[in-house]
Amino acid sequence: MEYLDLSPYEYARFPLALRCIGWLGREHGVQGSGEPPVTAAELTRLKAAAQRLGSVMLGVHECEFCPEGSAYQGTGEFRYYLRNGESYSAPMMVLHYVDAHAYRPPLVFREGLAETGDLPWDVRAQRLSDVLLDASEDFDFRCQAVIDLANWPDARAVDALDRAAADEELADIVGEEIHRSRELVISRLKR
Ligand SMILES: [Zn+2]
Repeated sequence: MEYLDLSPYEYARFPLALRCIGWLGREHGVQGSGEPPVTAAELTRLKAAAQRLGSVMLGVHECEFCPEGSAYQGTGEFRYYLRNGESYSAPMMVLHYVDAHAYRPPLVFREGLAETGDLPWDVRAQRLSDVLLDASEDFDFRCQAVIDLANWPDARAVDALDRAAADEELADIVGEEIHRSRELVISRLKR
């Protein structure tokens, strides 16, 4: 799938509005040639900011810019929740695109990532928590909420994940993911 940087994310249904980063392909090639080069600090932030890999069930992508036969493959996507309230989705391969193909993500996204500090609980976290705990919600939304709540080091995330763990259907399918998100939130709460 190929999308222009910063366009609304439409690859899969998702409970929050996201914008696209690094969904590169043949039609538009390696986007971002007009942006400044990515600094080492920015690349480090890009790697560190992605807490969990989501949507791994959506299938394997092959890098279209690697030599044929030795193309880098990736599956799943990173979702970046910035302190300025913007949320982005990038394919897992975004790190490879920056490393190997000099992809330059939009500066507005990189500047947003540079705002450091823990994310305060906000409408996005509340929405994910509500989705997670609503048995009538789309089951895949609930699974993605398990992954993404790990971005908020807040007792409310732990509480929501604890309640999810008590939900038999969720525990059966994504019990391990619930555990990992919970551990991540708790380890960041202790810092
Ligand atoms: Zn490649």
